[in-house]
Amino acid sequence: MEIERLTSFEFEEIKKKVLGVIIPIGSIEAHGPHLPLATDLYTIHEIAKRVAKEVPILIAPPVYYGLCRSTRDLPGTLSIQGETLKLLLLDIMESLYRQGLRTIALLSGHAGGTHNCYILDAGETFLEHHKDTRIFVANIAKLLRDLSQKIELHPQDSHAGDWETSLMMHVKPEVVKNLDQAFEDYPAFPEYELVTEKTKFWHSGIWGNPKLASPEKGKKICDLLVKKLVELFLSGSK
Ligand SMILES: [Zn+2]
Repeated sequence: MEIERLTSFEFEEIKKKVLGVIIPIGSIEAHGPHLPLATDLYTIHEIAKRVAKEVPILIAPPVYYGLCRSTRDLPGTLSIQGETLKLLLLDIMESLYRQGLRTIALLSGHAGGTHNCYILDAGETFLEHHKDTRIFVANIAKLLRDLSQKIELHPQDSHAGDWETSLMMHVKPEVVKNLDQAFEDYPAFPEYELVTEKTKFWHSGIWGNPKLASPEKGKKICDLLVKKLVELFLSGSK
């Protein structure tokens, strides 16, 4: 159940019966010629909705924005600072806590390393001050790596390539477009050295091969992710 669609009267009843709440977190960033800028939000939001069909959970209104470094100068990318993201998540978690919710999952569709460090830091900081909560922190790319024995993917496939295009073809096919213009590409950032003009080293937003994508593969990936997240909610560490 999506919180934004409930009345406050419904929320009051439903919150007593749920196992927890997911905060879907995305990014607005370039994903090649074939996927929309909000791809990272759409994937995790659609997965959250499917988890909510399997177990009684709430879905908080999503956070569309994230921290994007490598793609920040590509057309359409709208990045926010990590500190902003952390403070926003802390505020949302505090409100959910005040409403009586004690299990919170911070789930990101964006795989950026720094972005996910700030989400992890928000989770750790919140838990430190609210020891009666369960906090989950996960992102799609990490979950997929953990499930990699069950899906055949190229080890370099990372962004707007095979898995992400496949997933979108399954969960939200109406926003996938221009597949004939999609192409295989990889960034060429120098090892260890930080660079300011990132578009010189990565100009497409594609990191992998979207030509390999299929809705069937997307369904398999989606089902595995939903199953894993359902298991997490049903597991009991407290
Ligand atoms: Zn993405």
